[in-house]
Amino acid sequence: MEQLRNYINGELTEPVSKTYLDNYEPATGEVYSQIPDSDERDVLLAFNAAKNAFESWSKTSLESRMMILMKVADGIEKRMDEFVAAESKDNGKPQKLARAVDIPRAVSNFRFYASALQHFASESHQMPGVGINYTLRQPIGVVGCISPWNLPLYLFSWKIAPALATGNCVVAKPSEITPYTAYLLSQVCIEAGFPKGVLNIVHGLGNKVGQAIVEHEGIKAISFTGGTETGKRIASVAAPMFKKLSLELGGKNPTIIFADCDFEEIVKQVVSSSFSNQGEICLCGSRIFIEKFIYEKFKEAFVAQVKTLKVGDPNNDDSNMGAIVSFQHKQKILSYIKLAEEEGGAILTGGNEVKLDGRCANGYFIEPTVIDGLDYKCRTNQEEIFGPVVTLTPFENEEDILMMANSVKYGLSATIWTNDLKRAHRVAEKVEAGIVWINSWLVRDLRTPFGGVKASGVGREGGWEAMRFFTEAKNVFIKS
Ligand code: NDP
Repeated sequence: MEQLRNYINGELTEPVSKTYLDNYEPATGEVYSQIPDSDERDVLLAFNAAKNAFESWSKTSLESRMMILMKVADGIEKRMDEFVAAESKDNGKPQKLARAVDIPRAVSNFRFYASALQHFASESHQMPGVGINYTLRQPIGVVGCISPWNLPLYLFSWKIAPALATGNCVVAKPSEITPYTAYLLSQVCIEAGFPKGVLNIVHGLGNKVGQAIVEHEGIKAISFTGGTETGKRIASVAAPMFKKLSLELGGKNPTIIFADCDFEEIVKQVVSSSFSNQGEICLCGSRIFIEKFIYEKFKEAFVAQVKTLKVGDPNNDDSNMGAIVSFQHKQKILSYIKLAEEEGGAILTGGNEVKLDGRCANGYFIEPTVIDGLDYKCRTNQEEIFGPVVTLTPFENEEDILMMANSVKYGLSATIWTNDLKRAHRVAEKVEAGIVWINSWLVRDLRTPFGGVKASGVGREGGWEAMRFFTEAKNVFIKS
């Protein structure tokens, strides 16, 4: 069976423990590769390599840094088919989604930050007759990047690329559940001639490898995307050590539909914002609020559309939804569907596991599930499920919807569907979220700030925000 390797000091290495963890293909439920069960000793090796590389990497010319990041992007693009197949196999997502979104976006992340680094300028503030301030933006040193399983390479590269672009060296950990494309990335880095030690990828468990990265006193910044509880744990370790922290955490996003929306168009779009990637995108809308005048009409059209979704083998191009990422996660989602019923919800469609034939007979599949009749305060409507489960709730007016939308502890994103521009602006301003889409969903411009409020996180990624996060500002004043 194939054994993956860590990428430390420019080489593919065995974990110090020489032990491995099983890596499952969620569509078949079978183990298909093994990943290093690394621990703090591997993190230490990675840190030492990164520290040694920092002196040279931080002084590498901007143009050379740009060229090498571009080469990595080209390297991924050249092996597109391999990356697409690997991402789909590891995560369970349909191959066509990995081809349309995940892997092209990872390529874009590297290209975007490769070009951004050449345009990232220092600020200066003149004080007439007194002098001038200029603000240096210096790399931090060795930084830690920890990413989740839902958009594996997409989110991994979203952190690594700006960290490297700003002159830092990186110790990174992909999710243990979806390590494969990070492993392919390490091969691409070797092929691209990436300098040794600048990027190090340590595979393994969160509570061993992730924890060791967070606890290492020489790693001065942590960029983390994952669950809110894990974020809390990371903050409790990193904050007393005064590390810079960027936390992109969970969500329970509202989809807000006013009666004056373009009805025909939005039904399809809301199906997509609810069930893309099996609902395992932190930006999926899981609480759908509909203005009461069109509640019944929307419910009927939406449920009819959801029933047309095909759950199937991720390798088949006609599958709209693939497998849930792991057995444990499938069980968690099913337990929430049961909870919804106990809380008085009516399942309008879905609610069950899907049993497929052939190679996917033992895979982890769940029907797209739509529930209504629940109170907005119940647990099903307050807790993150992170799967193909949405609830429908009617609302009376703007005040009512804002109260319900803002009632959760999370605040990642919100989507508003209306043709009343003034109302769209009013609601966008008052909804508690870091990202709002009006009459669209998941339109991403890499220059814009990305992140959440409340329990959805601290700090922002994207554009200059990430470049600022991965640098220390040092102000210098000169008297005139
Ligand atoms: P987790 O929080 O379980 O894990 C995220 C990463 O952290 C994994 O690499 C994990 O390793 C690691 N980890 C776990 N424990 C620790 C620890 N004690 N110290 C350091 N690292 C640790 O999240 P999931 O992977 O389950 O991802 C799903 C979550 O991510 C959802 O809540 C989702 O909303 C959120 N998310 C947020 C996004 C955003 O932008 N706000 C985007 C995408 C997802 P391991 O895999 O081995 O457990």
